[in-house]
Amino acid sequence: MAGKKQEDAYAPIQRRALLAATGCKQRTSTEALEALTGTIPVDIHLTCRQAQAYLRLSTKHTGNPIYDTITHELTEERRGTPVHLLATRFKELKGELETETVDKECYFDARLPPFSIGRITGSFTPKMNNQCSKEQAKEEIAQLLQSIKQTKTTVVFTDGSSLGNPGPTGCSAVIYEHWGRTEPYTVKKPVAAKSNNYEGELQGLHLALSTLSKRERSEERVLILCDCKAAIENVITTHQVDAYNDLVNNIRQKLHEMKQKRVNIQIEWCPGHMGVAGNELADEQAKLAAEEARNSNMNTVWTRQQALKHIEKQAEERWKRRSELHTTSKHMQKINVQMKKKCKVLGLRSTQIAINQLVSGHTSLNAYRNWIDDTESPNCEACGERESTEHFLYYCPRYESSRRRMYNEVDNIYQELSTREKERRLDIVTLAGMREDLGEETNKKMYKAFSKYIEDTGRFAGED
Ligand SMILES: [Zn+2]
Repeated sequence: MAGKKQEDAYAPIQRRALLAATGCKQRTSTEALEALTGTIPVDIHLTCRQAQAYLRLSTKHTGNPIYDTITHELTEERRGTPVHLLATRFKELKGELETETVDKECYFDARLPPFSIGRITGSFTPKMNNQCSKEQAKEEIAQLLQSIKQTKTTVVFTDGSSLGNPGPTGCSAVIYEHWGRTEPYTVKKPVAAKSNNYEGELQGLHLALSTLSKRERSEERVLILCDCKAAIENVITTHQVDAYNDLVNNIRQKLHEMKQKRVNIQIEWCPGHMGVAGNELADEQAKLAAEEARNSNMNTVWTRQQALKHIEKQAEERWKRRSELHTTSKHMQKINVQMKKKCKVLGLRSTQIAINQLVSGHTSLNAYRNWIDDTESPNCEACGERESTEHFLYYCPRYESSRRRMYNEVDNIYQELSTREKERRLDIVTLAGMREDLGEETNKKMYKAFSKYIEDTGRFAGED
């Protein structure tokens, strides 16, 4: 399994690729190349993949044959096995994530007949025509509600709401025991301190069914109106779903049980925020429930996708912390803070290479040549001063007119942004269009102004 060996094998390859891509000098540090291109270091990348592999393994469904093996491997006596290594990696990057709170992967036993819950779909008649406008749908719902007044029917409106999506989430169900005859009552439940509308909607359905199934009734007619098409679709089909498996399966199970009690359930989509009274009430209650969840530390159920993404983010954080800790070069510190800006693919490649080199600090300027080989003069051929990056960028009199043009251009860019005089930075990171705090368009303009300067000076001409 992956470990130090793989890292040793990949690191030089990644370095060579980055050198080729950026056109940077051999001496450029790997950290600089990684920062310049936004490429995560090999070891962190591998740790991330291993942590993710552990997450995938540990969230297998209990019905999956691999589940028992994994559980066995994770016991104390089996310390040192590859699975333990993966578990360690996971611990390094998990942050606030716990595997118990991650949704289990779905699993269907091939020996069993097609998912048995599937048989109940016959009692649902969702007319979820996508072409159908909300107005039309509202009209159809009104007609449906009118037509069932004669037959004794329980009508339920469900809703879920996430304040911020993701954010504190709650759900609700508004129940009319005998539609047209009785006043509604509502049930609501906070779901999680941080989740999304979709889970809220599913929880709303679950809450409705739990409430209904507690009553000792059979042979009744129930109409459930939910304003989330995705939730309905995933609940009533027999397909595997990729998120909130346990929850969806619980809902299916509940539907199945009620079907066995000869309850006739119909689920329909009801357009949200269209003034359908029951739906508005449910929406209001779900929002109240979400407020209740706000200051709770209610366990969030992570979908597997969210959890995998989370690990990736943690890996990026680790990279960021590392570069803040180890970077000594002035240039690099600036880039590292704004790491995610990749080097630009604009204009001439030779110009891009020159800019990459200037940012990394390893260039063909004489001060650098002299650092490699002290028989070479460090001085500028034009003016005799030491030819450092700063000299080339800001001071050499030979390039004064080109520099003026660049400064004017940059000033215009700042003018457009109404940046205050004091904050008009001219450092290499700004010029190279690598500022995270400036937008993509502004960075492009900066880069263009800078490339113009590089090309005007001709100092790096003929290099590749
Ligand atoms: Zn000079």
